[in-house]
Amino acid sequence: MAIREGCWDCPTCGTTRLLGRQLACAGCGNRRPEGIRFYLPDDAAEVTDAERLAEARAGADWICEHCGVSARATQPRCPGCGAERGSSPQQQTHEHRFGEPAEEAPRALAAAAPAKRRRGWKGPAAILAVIGGMVWYNGPVETTATVAGKEWSRAIEVQEYRTVQEEDWSVPHGGREKRSFRAVRDHRQVLDHYESRTRQVSERVQTGTRTYTCGQRDMGNGYFEDVTCTEPEYTTNYRTESYQEPVYRQEPIYDTKYAYEIERWLPDDTMWARGDAAKEPAWPAVRIGAREREGARIQRYVLRFKDDDGKTYEREVTPEQFARYRAGQPVTLRMKRGGNGGQVEIVEPDAKS
Ligand SMILES: [Zn+2]
Ligand SMILES: [Zn+2]
Repeated sequence: MAIREGCWDCPTCGTTRLLGRQLACAGCGNRRPEGIRFYLPDDAAEVTDAERLAEARAGADWICEHCGVSARATQPRCPGCGAERGSSPQQQTHEHRFGEPAEEAPRALAAAAPAKRRRGWKGPAAILAVIGGMVWYNGPVETTATVAGKEWSRAIEVQEYRTVQEEDWSVPHGGREKRSFRAVRDHRQVLDHYESRTRQVSERVQTGTRTYTCGQRDMGNGYFEDVTCTEPEYTTNYRTESYQEPVYRQEPIYDTKYAYEIERWLPDDTMWARGDAAKEPAWPAVRIGAREREGARIQRYVLRFKDDDGKTYEREVTPEQFARYRAGQPVTLRMKRGGNGGQVEIVEPDAKS
């Protein structure tokens, strides 16, 4: 496991990047105090010198309980006041895993990572601008025109009561059965046989383990040691597997079906009435014969318009609108931008006109 030399910053004079091996500040000469936090620069090289390695592996510094300065694990007496180690406590050690936030960001590391400057939050504004542009582009436009024509049509369906032939799974009320027979009413899935098939299957198999550096341990004496982790390594194996697949067939389900005669009201004819601005809308005259009746009624009203450029438009309207607009009357039309005739809306003046 690789060992690297860390740094510390002097809290008295502010000198930075003092070497881990230094027990006193190179700037002001003050002793390294208790609780100093070591950090590992990104470019820290691996320690290979035997003496330094021994120094690193000797253990954490101890803090003199009398004067508070740091002493190496190998020093039996305090370099500050000369007292014996006695019951003096050790400098704390820390372990940091990569990807986990540091308990307290050491100054040099914080300075090394450039703070991201917040840029203006332009995204949504830009999107809104684009959407705004699209609405403007596809938005409706208005034009003035005059009513150039009116057309109406009204229709009444005439139904006849007729005898018809029908078939069904039962005879409805009023039906007269003519004959019955067996017919296929539905199908059901029946297991017919199994077929042998093959398919590729994959299996994840562990092939070994991988050891990697996953963190750094602050040894409490200015040195840092790599923390190693292991994780399993896998490979995917493929093999061919055979299996039985069920094959189904459709089997018909029979039932009794009936052929019968019955009377039904069926459309026989449609009577139409049509007209323009010169003729008031009216229903067509209908002559009802024996075994006949009136069916559905439909009505349709269309206004035609012409604008100053001679372009024509049309719009299906309600009977009320049809009655309100006279030929030659000016109107405002709303349509899709770029629309060439086709569907238009009438912009109605407020309420009563
Ligand atoms: Zn200093
Ligand atoms: Zn001391």
